[in-house]
Amino acid sequence: MSKRGVRPKGVLHRAGQPPVYYECPVCGFLTADTSFGTGDVTCPSCGAERDGRRIFPPERLRRLDARIRRYHSDGESEIVVILVATFLETLLEDILARIMESQGASLKLRASVLDTQRSVGQRLGRLFPTLTSVTFEDSAAEEGFRDFPKRWRALRASRNAFIHDSAFEAPIQNLDTRTASEAMALLDQAYRLFVHLNNRFAIRPDVVA
Ligand SMILES: [Zn+2]
Repeated sequence: MSKRGVRPKGVLHRAGQPPVYYECPVCGFLTADTSFGTGDVTCPSCGAERDGRRIFPPERLRRLDARIRRYHSDGESEIVVILVATFLETLLEDILARIMESQGASLKLRASVLDTQRSVGQRLGRLFPTLTSVTFEDSAAEEGFRDFPKRWRALRASRNAFIHDSAFEAPIQNLDTRTASEAMALLDQAYRLFVHLNNRFAIRPDVVA
């Protein structure tokens, strides 16, 4: 059963907390439904039994997320922007790897493809549509996140203008709290978008009943 177009219910992105989703270990379906997490229901996607559900995001990302939120509450705007930009790139890499895995790509192949498509621009502009047959912009819009690609681009541009010397653009001297708050808003959206994209494109089909 597809969750396409349906906003996850009951997702509470509490301030200062990374969100909690539950993952079916068999097909990779993700949901915020706590009755799924506690094993009260079988997987609505593949019908798998009720044990072994994993928490998403995984521990390494939860730790990074918690750190970002601490920096944000401490007013460390520059660090927040740089870390969120990196975090979103990690989420993108993860979703691309999951989509490739669902299409049968081995670990070696996934690593090789991601290694040859290193830039965010290539990954969004070429790899994503190659794997899904839709553009990232269109699929984000279909999931209710029309502005996300543009806002993410703006965040990357701010980050880049701050940390890179460029012959083409003037460096910016600081990243303010407004940019940091925008970064935090994008972080929360990115999780929801990730879950939508996962359930639409990355469910492992060989196990779906
Ligand atoms: Zn499942």
